[in-house]
Amino acid sequence: MREFLRAKGLPRRAIVTAALPYANGRLHVGHLRSTYIPADAFKRYLKARGYDVLYICGTDEHGTPIAVQADKEGVSPKDIADRYHPIIHQQLKTVGCDLDVFSRTTLPHHYTLTQQVFLKLLEKGFIYEKEYEELFCTKCQRALPDRYVNGTCPHCGYPYARGDACDNCGSFLKPTDLIDPRCALCGSTPEVRRTKHWFFRLSSIENEIRAWIAKNDRLPENVRNFAEGWLKSGLRDWCITRNMQWGVPVPIRGAEGKVLYVWFDAPIGYVSATIDWAQQQSDPDAWRNYWTGDVEIYHFIGKDNIYPHVFFWLGIVIAYGEWTLPRSIVAGEFVTLHGRRMQKSIGWIIEIEDVLKNFPVDSLRYFLLSIALHRDLDFTWTELAHRHNEDLVSNLGNFVHRTLVLIKRYFNGTIPEDYEPETLERIKQVAKEVEEAMNRFEFHRALHTILNLSTYGNQLLSQREPWRLIKEGLKEEAACVIGSCARLVRALAILLYPFLPNTAKQIWSQLGLGNLPEQNLWALLEEDFPPQHTIGKPIPLFPKIPEDLIQRLEAELAKKRPE
Ligand SMILES: [Zn+2]
Ligand SMILES: [Zn+2]
Repeated sequence: MREFLRAKGLPRRAIVTAALPYANGRLHVGHLRSTYIPADAFKRYLKARGYDVLYICGTDEHGTPIAVQADKEGVSPKDIADRYHPIIHQQLKTVGCDLDVFSRTTLPHHYTLTQQVFLKLLEKGFIYEKEYEELFCTKCQRALPDRYVNGTCPHCGYPYARGDACDNCGSFLKPTDLIDPRCALCGSTPEVRRTKHWFFRLSSIENEIRAWIAKNDRLPENVRNFAEGWLKSGLRDWCITRNMQWGVPVPIRGAEGKVLYVWFDAPIGYVSATIDWAQQQSDPDAWRNYWTGDVEIYHFIGKDNIYPHVFFWLGIVIAYGEWTLPRSIVAGEFVTLHGRRMQKSIGWIIEIEDVLKNFPVDSLRYFLLSIALHRDLDFTWTELAHRHNEDLVSNLGNFVHRTLVLIKRYFNGTIPEDYEPETLERIKQVAKEVEEAMNRFEFHRALHTILNLSTYGNQLLSQREPWRLIKEGLKEEAACVIGSCARLVRALAILLYPFLPNTAKQIWSQLGLGNLPEQNLWALLEEDFPPQHTIGKPIPLFPKIPEDLIQRLEAELAKKRPE
């Protein structure tokens, strides 16, 4: 097994980022599925493969949604961010995200870094100044950037489009694109005024972005297709300043009262979050190891963030010239609820906490990872419960528990030394398939492949019936079957760790192996149990979800179903 487990000359350092959640609300299962759980599974996978890897995240605290909400509530934008930052952090910890830091874009060093990047791009000629039309509300006496204005989408006619984007067709807009624009605060019709703004020369980097997409063999198809679609019409230069108070101030004379657009500062937040981490380690320069030189950078985002990452962020990194280009950008699609789009405003949504009241964390992680990331996942309590009951209880849990009980009952808790050579062949083959799937961010395929090992183990037990062999006096043959199953259980713990970390740790502990060593865990695939090894106490891994609970959950949800 050694040959394929060895690093293939790749750098062994990586950073995994997850899109910074916007600090104006709680996360729901849709966010977990598109971004945070896949990023966590990938981080843990790289860790298990021996990488020196960080998982970086934090809250995005600027931009007009927070500012508008603050204006409406009569509080400061910082108050809103202060409210949601700890809530979101706790939610991510609860679902097992192995974050190395959870930072904030309102920290002073983030302002400093963002302004440094701006000044360097200005100096290199990537930023220029231009007169620009914007909307102004005479009643509120203020400019109306982005979400300060609502109106009809010029592309699809959706009447609830906002100044920065249309949620219906996914177009990125500027406020003056809207048909029949209205001030989001007072509802009046704004007037058009000319004002000075700063633009990022995205058009001049278009060829470099094209080349990055064309030669990137790790870019998932949904991201590639989306990006190539936009590139057909060419990239427009990008207005990166806004007339408002809340944000990172534009650090030059003549730009008083203007801040940088949130999509300029938010992705720089990945780097400043890493600086935050380095400072917490009392090694302030350590962040450079993860952003410069030989490092693999992976960005996990929701599909609605493809445009700003592939064009804005990549453009900034290319123009800035000091940071390593991303190895990949992975975009998860959304979760629908009984086939319909989730709608937070009417409660047509699944709260993370409601799932965890009734299901183990790993069941939620399993369900969210079990469908290809580039496809929408349809959430129903029935399907979640079926996956739990069939895949985790009947298949995995049943196999692990039966094996451990047999070891206890017939071998006094000691792992039989003998096993069938085919078992190791299968484990080796599955590990290889998992590696291939993970290289393509096909978490669902990796999981299904791994669970095939426990399907195989269950078949081995029911076909060979070691309890019968023992009755017939064929104890050596029974030992060989159970010894094989014990190796499968051990391999399952190692391979499942990125996806179902709690389950992996439980299996490891029940095997009597103590704490699961997460760093470089895969190296243990080449090893066996210590000689004469004794297992711990077998405990069922998952409770079965009863039918009446599933029906109750569905009935409660049905009351909220939109017309
Ligand atoms: Zn539209
Ligand atoms: Zn107004």
